[in-house]
Amino acid sequence: MTGTTTPAQDFAGLTALVTGGASGIGAATAALLTARGARVAVLDRDTAGAPEGTVPVAADVTSDSQVRDAVEAAVRELGGLHILVSNAGIGSIGTVEDNPDQEWARVLDVNVLGMVRAARAALPHLRAAALERPGCASITHTCSIAATAGLPQRALYSASKGAVLSLTLAMAADHVREGVRVNCVNPGTADTPWIGRLLDQAEDPAAERAALDARQPLGRLVSADEVAAAIAYLASPAAASVTGTALAVDGGMQGLRLRPA
Ligand code: NAD
Repeated sequence: MTGTTTPAQDFAGLTALVTGGASGIGAATAALLTARGARVAVLDRDTAGAPEGTVPVAADVTSDSQVRDAVEAAVRELGGLHILVSNAGIGSIGTVEDNPDQEWARVLDVNVLGMVRAARAALPHLRAAALERPGCASITHTCSIAATAGLPQRALYSASKGAVLSLTLAMAADHVREGVRVNCVNPGTADTPWIGRLLDQAEDPAAERAALDARQPLGRLVSADEVAAAIAYLASPAAASVTGTALAVDGGMQGLRLRPA
């Protein structure tokens, strides 16, 4: 024993597609699945940040034809598809009075329909993978604690993630007998470029960051790697009997019934 460990190769022989995989939580997930032995494709509208060793496939999840073409390209490159991580998403701030219909349509198109399009394109391949490797076919959605937390100033974003949660549960029921598991992760505020962009808009980004950390039950944001580890668990063979589950990675935000100030 040297005291060092090598990452478990529990994804050896498995193939995965991660949407929004070129930044933040998606990039951390694509890198982790790759390190654990999966062959991974990254679907993103901007693939520049796709982790090393992954196959980039450029597509916008608001285009059904682009998503279909990207899934087919990934399947050709990887030789199949066992795992879909549907993670691409965008934010929106405000109350119902702040955002017009067009903004609702724009955000729901990415956050909800984007996941529907990815699932529709991937499901035939996932069903085939389930026959080949029982327990290994899965879809994991990146949802959010916003789905159930009642966050202020997040009406549209929360509604979009509420829809993702419901979609996850309904899809889990529809596809359980086909051997395709469907789960979601509910991150709290996660330290990704997304949050960096929000903080940059503040008058004093460093002070705002310190205040944000202080508002978390843990005293810090969750990391993209911590969310990726939860996604990897749900997508792993170890979770073969886990479907229809929402796994919170939020530093205790929901379980402790605390609210961000
Ligand atoms: P991020 O902005 O760092 O990464 C999002 C990625 O999605 C980017 O690479 C972007 O190019 C891609 N993307 C966005 N719209 C797309 C589209 N139309 N087509 C294709 N790709 C698109 O954000 P992140 O923080 O890593 O967020 C990832 C997911 O996690 C989102 O679904 C978000 O709602 C969710 N989430 C984030 C947080 C957080 O605090 N960061 C908390 C809860 C949930």
